[in-house]
Amino acid sequence: MAIEDYENPNREIKPKNRRFMEGENQWPIWLKPLLNQHFFAQCKFHGHLPRTECKMYCLDCTNDSFCSLCLSEHENHRTIQIRISSYHNVTKVDEIQKYLDISSIQTYVINSSKVLFLNERPQSKPGKGFTNACMVCYRGLAENCFRFCSIGCKVHLPTYTPIIFTR
Ligand SMILES: [Zn+2]
Ligand SMILES: [Zn+2]
Ligand SMILES: [Zn+2]
Repeated sequence: MAIEDYENPNREIKPKNRRFMEGENQWPIWLKPLLNQHFFAQCKFHGHLPRTECKMYCLDCTNDSFCSLCLSEHENHRTIQIRISSYHNVTKVDEIQKYLDISSIQTYVINSSKVLFLNERPQSKPGKGFTNACMVCYRGLAENCFRFCSIGCKVHLPTYTPIIFTR
């Protein structure tokens, strides 16, 4: 019997490893503001012009959404465009995956672009005919390789440790 591979199950996690694990559970600071953001209102600066819905979001400023004409004020910032599908906000996989680990989130192909939903979509009854469901809201997922229906559901995972302020 080989004993070289024996690993002490009680071995302590080295501080270095622990820091790495904490880092993995931390979401970028722009994520919560993005998920809580309201999109597709008229721009308050360009509302008199056509096609000026606020559908852009700046990951560096994390302020309100803004229109494509306001985009010039965010030069060299990380911006993403929000789209709408079935009344829900989606973002293109190509745009968001540069800034966020979107693994395990169900993607959809809409207008020949790969997108994912920002938030959980309330449903009246559990989806039928699905073999896989979102771990958080139980929405049926089209493919078995995914675990979450939206970015919002992945972020609300119980393993996500929010910052706790101690008194
Ligand atoms: Zn504008
Ligand atoms: Zn900006
Ligand atoms: Zn979900």
